[in-house]
Amino acid sequence: MTLVVEGLSVHYGGVSAVRNLGFDVPGGEAVGVIGANGAGKTSTLKAIMGLVPRQVASLRFGDIDLSTVAARNMVRHGIGYVPEGRHVFAGLPVEKNLLLGAYARAWNAATRTTLAEVYELFPVLGEMRGRLAGALSGGQQQMLAIGRALMSRPKLLLLDEPSMGLSPKLVEDILAVLLRLRGEGMSLLLVEQNAKLTFEATSRCLVVENGEVAMTGTSAQLRHDPRVRKIYLGL
Ligand code: ATP
Repeated sequence: MTLVVEGLSVHYGGVSAVRNLGFDVPGGEAVGVIGANGAGKTSTLKAIMGLVPRQVASLRFGDIDLSTVAARNMVRHGIGYVPEGRHVFAGLPVEKNLLLGAYARAWNAATRTTLAEVYELFPVLGEMRGRLAGALSGGQQQMLAIGRALMSRPKLLLLDEPSMGLSPKLVEDILAVLLRLRGEGMSLLLVEQNAKLTFEATSRCLVVENGEVAMTGTSAQLRHDPRVRKIYLGL
C-alpha cells in the first residue's frame, strides 16, 4: 500500500508553513523528511494525520482517501503516528499506555501477542511495565511512544523526530528498531533534524526548506551531496 501525498499545503493564519508538497511512500519503504527547525516537517505529518487544517490535492493510502478520515480513525486504516515530544500519558503505568495504543482493536490473543512483541523489541518497557510513564527517562518515553503506536499493528508508521534530545547511544538504539521494523516490511515516514540517522534508516529522502521540497533523491545520493553535507551533516 502506497501513501500518496499531492499538493499539500498548511497555513496558520498568515503563516505559510507547508507549500504544495508532494511525495509518496511505497509499501515496505522507509522515506525520510529532513529539514531545519521550522522547515515545516511537523506540520507535514500533522497535516497527513488531519491534526491541522490543510489543503491537499490528493491524500491516499492504497485505495483509501485519507483526506476524509479523522485523525482518531487513521489507526483503523493501518497508519500509526509517533508525535514529536512523545506525549505519553505520564500519570498512567507503562502497560496502560501501551494498551491505549490498541484502542481500535479488541483485547484478545492477537493483542496480547502484539504486547509481547513490543516488550521483546523494547525489553526495558517490560521491566518497567508497572511504573508510571512519567517516571521514565526521555529515551524510555520515546520507546514507549513508539511501542504505543506499534500496538495498533500499523502498516505505515509516521515518526516525528524520534531522536530529539536523546544520547548518541539511544539514537543508535532507535535506529536499530527502525531498521528492524523496516526489515519486517513496515513502511516508515521519518521526519528528522538528524540527517545522519535519517540517511541510515531510509532509502529515499526529501529535503524540506521553508515549507517546500528543496531536494529529493535516494538517501545514498543525498548523503554525498555537497550542499547536504555542508548544511545538514555539518561536514
Ligand atoms: P521543528 O523541528 O521545530 O518541529 P518543523 O520543521 O517541524 O520544525 P513546523 O513545526 O512544521 O516545522 O513549523 C513550520 C512553520 O510553521 C514555522 O515557521 C512555525 O513557526 C510555524 N508554525 C508551526 N505551528 C504553528 C502554529 N500552531 N501557529 C502558527 N505558526 C505555526
